[in-house]
Amino acid sequence: MIDTNPSDEPIIRFTHASRRYETGRGTVTALDDVSVAIARGQWVAIVGPSGSGKSSMMNLIAGIDRTSSGEVRVNGRALGTLSEERLARWRRDGVGIVFQFFQLMPTLTALENVVLPMELRGFRTGKRSRALELLDRVGVADLAGSLPSQLSGGEQQRVAIARALANDPAILLADEPTGNLDSATGERIIDLLAELADGARTLIIVTHDERLAARAPRVIALADGAVVRDTDAYSVGADVPAREEPSVGAARLIGN
Ligand code: ADP
Ligand code: MG
Repeated sequence: MIDTNPSDEPIIRFTHASRRYETGRGTVTALDDVSVAIARGQWVAIVGPSGSGKSSMMNLIAGIDRTSSGEVRVNGRALGTLSEERLARWRRDGVGIVFQFFQLMPTLTALENVVLPMELRGFRTGKRSRALELLDRVGVADLAGSLPSQLSGGEQQRVAIARALANDPAILLADEPTGNLDSATGERIIDLLAELADGARTLIIVTHDERLAARAPRVIALADGAVVRDTDAYSVGADVPAREEPSVGAARLIGN
């Protein structure tokens, strides 16, 4: 695991973080010089139109991807400097991820889906009882023996949330968790996620639904890979060191 730092240190800090992709048609800049800090226990919504860099930002936090320049620190540790092995451990133990299409294992029951991350982590005992507790917490304990195909979208997303919590991660990430649900079901899923943002766990929800995002105490809006709005001054700090040649993105952050 990544060492725990004093709790006044932001749990996540992007410093001039960029992610570029080389494609056949040239360079695509998915994230362009992003500097933000997220406090431990914060609930943050990341919004922006399709292609604005939301998933790229999430993938950097999750250790699924690395920056092209700049850095992303989690618990004070720059993820880009971690070995593949340590990064894999961060993905497994440090973050829980909830996806738009649930991504449950189709041949495993709800209970077995929640047990799986604990098995991968090497827990020997108590896995099934913890999984049942988690299913109960998200309101679907009675469906423990069902296969994903027997569940509604909202029920599948509840199971996926229980699975994301299995290893008690410090950070819960959700990428468009309501994107495949009708709006009433989506609202209930956001209610559930909000309940889980109990001040200890950091919750980051990516959505293009501003109505759902508005429920988060803090909203970060992206456009073309850059932060264009942040409702929390804590993030856009004077404490971000200026680059030697400030880019347009940096000027936007530091200036007006
Ligand atoms: P969002 O989640 O907000 O829709 P993404 O972070 O997925 O946005 O993508 C941001 C930009 O980066 C888009 O223009 C997208 O096409 C591009 N992009 C994302 N992943 C890749 C990739 N693997 N290769 C090339 N371009 C990519
Ligand atoms: Mg996305």
